[in-house]
Amino acid sequence: MSNALIQSLNQAIGGPLPEAVRRNVAELLADDIFRQRLDLAGRALHRNTYAQLRTLIQRLPSSPKLFDSPQYLLALSEQIGIRNPSLFIAFAIHYGLCISTLAAFESGNKMAGKLRRAMESGKTVGAYMITELGRSNSQITTRTEAVYDPATHAFVLHSPDNGAVKFSNVGVSDQSKLGIVCARLRVAGQDCGVFAFAMPISTRRGPKPGVRMSEAAEIPLVPFDYGLCAFDHMRLPFDAWLNDGAGLDKNGVFHDPLGDPDKRLIRTLVAPKHVWAMGSRALAAVTCTSAALALKHATQRFTMARMAPQTRLLDYSTQQRALFVALATGYAMTCFSNDACADWAEHLKQKHVAATDISALNFAPWSAAHRRLALTKVLTAWAAEETCAECRLRCGVAGDLSLNGFLHWQGLGHVFNDAGGNNWLILFDTARSLLAEPLPDAPAPCMFDTSSLPSLLGLVKTRAYRLRQALAVKFQSSEAQGCSAMELWNPLLPLAREVALAHGLVLIVESAIKTNEAVADPQARQLLEVLTQLYVLEHIQRQAAWYLSEALFDAHRYHALETAITVLCERLTGSVEPLISAFGSRETAVPRPLEDPTQCYPDALMSALTRQDHRSR
Ligand SMILES: Cc1cc2nc3c(=O)[nH]c(=O)nc-3n(C[C@H](O)[C@H](O)[C@H](O)COP(=O)(O)OP(=O)(O)OC[C@H]3O[C@@H](n4cnc5c(N)ncnc54)[C@H](O)[C@@H]3O)c2cc1C
Repeated sequence: MSNALIQSLNQAIGGPLPEAVRRNVAELLADDIFRQRLDLAGRALHRNTYAQLRTLIQRLPSSPKLFDSPQYLLALSEQIGIRNPSLFIAFAIHYGLCISTLAAFESGNKMAGKLRRAMESGKTVGAYMITELGRSNSQITTRTEAVYDPATHAFVLHSPDNGAVKFSNVGVSDQSKLGIVCARLRVAGQDCGVFAFAMPISTRRGPKPGVRMSEAAEIPLVPFDYGLCAFDHMRLPFDAWLNDGAGLDKNGVFHDPLGDPDKRLIRTLVAPKHVWAMGSRALAAVTCTSAALALKHATQRFTMARMAPQTRLLDYSTQQRALFVALATGYAMTCFSNDACADWAEHLKQKHVAATDISALNFAPWSAAHRRLALTKVLTAWAAEETCAECRLRCGVAGDLSLNGFLHWQGLGHVFNDAGGNNWLILFDTARSLLAEPLPDAPAPCMFDTSSLPSLLGLVKTRAYRLRQALAVKFQSSEAQGCSAMELWNPLLPLAREVALAHGLVLIVESAIKTNEAVADPQARQLLEVLTQLYVLEHIQRQAAWYLSEALFDAHRYHALETAITVLCERLTGSVEPLISAFGSRETAVPRPLEDPTQCYPDALMSALTRQDHRSR
């Protein structure tokens, strides 16, 4: 196996993440202390996850800070996502949501700076609260209130009823936790918009006065202490308000330079885009890892069907098709995430806050906060959920065992349907905001050639264009009939979803082609081009009914799709070893039984289960 080839593949997959950083992070996380604990459950497991988070924080280099070193933050996200999805959720909330919110708004607020430093030292962990229990789309209709009390120059934080109770990581209440709570500010009865407020919500002795925390409401595939948090007239000092330039004059009159409650809401939500960047990296990584692991299993496992005893599992066409499409998906998602994260890292460097475009705010605030990153989160989450499930199924019972990882990786994809914002709502808002932009020029007509990436890109661009055009036509016709917004949009939502997905597919394929073009090693480049082709062909085949109905190809070409996909899978089979090495997990800790290089799977599983047994006694 050529090391140069693996190195080139690794570089392409790593994108902007330097190989040394990825290796360094893998070594840091190799310590057994960070492994997903399968022998713990409920509170014990959640407490352990917080202990892992604190240990991780203490072991991170003290300088530079993570947000000054975005590549390190992304490499951590990738590796923690693979190693321990529950810890990833804790890490993303702590850094991506809480520390980043404090850092964005702490200017001129000493208390906020102090709270951030306490979080960066691991003395306290973060809980972020925007979602409320009572209604859909609660993130744009916050009901938790922070009422200004002029007598004490302080605020009173209150949940008016159970519908306004927050969903957050509050299911264990004996940790030192800091809450970042998005609440509606009221001054002298006036609704001043939604701001973030920062305050300690619990210590080792339990919740702070005025805070009620529920038991954990378990989400089994990625366990964490998700729960409910209510505020009962909790008194907050003035500096708990992360006012971001808004203020009260000497007469107690509120002013906000943004001058618009929607702009204020989006500005308050500076943090989710960090979670989308971190999440997309973790989701792409688990997709690649599960594909590589299932491929490895398929190369080592012999089958005993009567027609061909002692044949490798991977020699079967069904296995090849499923697992190489999985790998191709992992590669495409990695390129897509790398591109989105490169933009995100650039913005971090610039340190200024981009002007807020609220045109995408309708169902949820997410697309208005950052359309591309929100979409990246959606597509990497769905790809991870689907791909890890497929890989799990392709490994039989080995796929079902928690020890082998697939269920937790699938779980990470699953919870990111809603974590960081509901995926469907992000798609709806993406489509609405695309509609608000001028329709681009129609793509040049292209011949359908299954072996040409430019031709395949042309085809998916044509689909994106035509769907967008169809949405625009239907929208204008309903508008002309004087339909209400609900009458107009409700029947268009399925098409809106397709518009956003087709737009996303174009971005994904463009990212992959750009990545391929930058690869110097011809063999590596060829392999990555084959993966890209396979990814696009798989999608075109899934949407073949639409392409046929639009006469973009005929029945003859439709049948050619299957042959082309089979040929690509056969080509990849010849290079499966370097692909597994490049895409596979880079952990140096105790390997999962399926990936143990030192022993065969039955021996590795036997010894892992014996070890687990000892540990839990
Ligand atoms: C693992 C995990 C971690 C989380 N962590 C946090 C956290 O730290 N802090 C926090 O504040 N929140 C957190 N959340 C909550 C998350 O942000 C919300 O679950 C998500 O935004 C969706 O809101 P909801 O659950 O109220 O769903 P709803 O908004 O009620 O949506 C329910 C369903 O209805 C559909 N729907 C909703 N409205 C419409 C509409 N107008 N038109 C058509 N369809 C619609 C949606 O697509 C969805 O399928 C977390 C969630 C998960 C799963």
